Formats: sequence, structure tokens, C-alpha cells
Amino acid sequence: MSIKGRVHSIESFGSADGPGVRFMVFLHGCPLRCQFCHNPDTWGSKKYEEMSADQILRQALRYKNYWGTNGGITISGGEPLLQIDFLLELFKKAKAQGVNTCIDTSGGCFTREGEWFKKFEELMNYTDLLLVDIKEINDERHRVLTTKSNENILDMARYLSDINKPVWIRHVLVPERSDYDEDLDQLNEFIKTLNNVEKVEVLPYHTLGVFKWEELGIDYQLEGIQPPTAERVENAHKRLHVEDYK
Ligand code: SF4
Repeated sequence: MSIKGRVHSIESFGSADGPGVRFMVFLHGCPLRCQFCHNPDTWGSKKYEEMSADQILRQALRYKNYWGTNGGITISGGEPLLQIDFLLELFKKAKAQGVNTCIDTSGGCFTREGEWFKKFEELMNYTDLLLVDIKEINDERHRVLTTKSNENILDMARYLSDINKPVWIRHVLVPERSDYDEDLDQLNEFIKTLNNVEKVEVLPYHTLGVFKWEELGIDYQLEGIQPPTAERVENAHKRLHVEDYK
């Protein structure tokens, strides 16, 4: 029997999460609770649709002509790796059809232990690229920002480097949370130890998802914090040497 994925939403034409035009699938559930999250409705509500890998693939392949040489499917969330069995089935089928596959992940559920890791190792055989969010390199600040340690997230980045799996590293720049010069420099040092980084992206914090927090009745802890200035974004670009990876 095929495994069903819990799908929060689908976008047919994504262009920001991976190379080229992407068919975006947002999966339900996430182990983190980022203060800036744009999709808090993926966390705990029961609002999702159960879909099989075949259903998704059929839908995605309708857009194949738009993908060109480097487009394909990106699975995001929430945290897609929470549904690793489903991901494995979907990506096996996608690769059998020659589709470019990408995972947009916070790494929040990464572990080198047990069955999960075996599945992850297998999943990497069917994954072309991972977009890895490193939300804050300082663990104490990471815990404040996301409620969890970054230890296993950094470990995932190291593992992906060891197996030479291409990644884009992404950092959401949030004033008063993840925009400190010393942390950006430390993040840069960490990235330099990895040998699989194709791209580094700075994603300036924005407030477009705040209405969802209000709708869900959850306290928004970044109240009053404005998006970073152009100078701070430029500063982050320089400190993380974004240009070097293009
Ligand atoms: S990892 Fe992504 S989906 Fe999960 S809480 Fe953070 S921003 Fe939201």
C-alpha cells in the first residue's frame, strides 16, 4: 500500500526555492517553532490533505515543460524530513521519471541514529539538492529563535558535506535575533569548513506571515521588530561572502 503524505499546500510555479521553475509541495508538521515562521499553520492544525506520491507526481508532471533543464520539484514545509517514508517513495518515483528533486529543510529532525538515518542515507540517493536553513550559529540564540538546539542541524550540514551532496545554505536575517556580526562571521567560518556549498543566501526577515499568527491566536514574539535595513542585509552578504558562491 502506498504511503500518504500530509500535504499542507502546493504551488505550481515556485522560483525562489531551488534552481529554475519548481513545483512546490509544502508538507505538514515541523519540530521547530521559529519566531519568524511564515507558515505556522503547518505546525499543529489538522488542515492538510492526504496525498499519495503518484497523485503528487501526476500533478507535478503537468508542468514539466516549464522546468527547462534545471527546474523540478521542491519539497518544503513545515519540515519535510518529518515524513521521510513518504519523501523516499515520492523521490524514488520522481527520479525514475528524470525529475530534479530538492528538499527545503531546517534539519530539525536530523539524527545519525536508528532507522531514520538509514532512510535518510537512502533518500540522499534520490535527492539532487538540499536547501539547508541555518537560522543561527550561536546555539543559545538558536534556542531562543526556534525553541531547539542547532547541534543536529549543523551535524546534518557536516554529513551532507562528507557525502558531497550539493546544498544551498540559507540564513534568515532577523534583527535582534540572527543579525549579529560575530555570529555572521562564525557562520561564515562554519560554511567554509563544508565542501558541498553551491550557494549561500541571506533571506531578510519580513512580516508577511504575521496575519497567520493572529488567525491562529498565537503570540507573535517579534512584535515591533522591523525587517533588516538594506545596510544590514548588505553587511550579511559581505560577511557570508554570498558573491563567492554565485
Ligand atoms: S523550520 Fe520553517 S516551518 Fe518550521 S517553524 Fe521554522 S520557519 Fe516555520
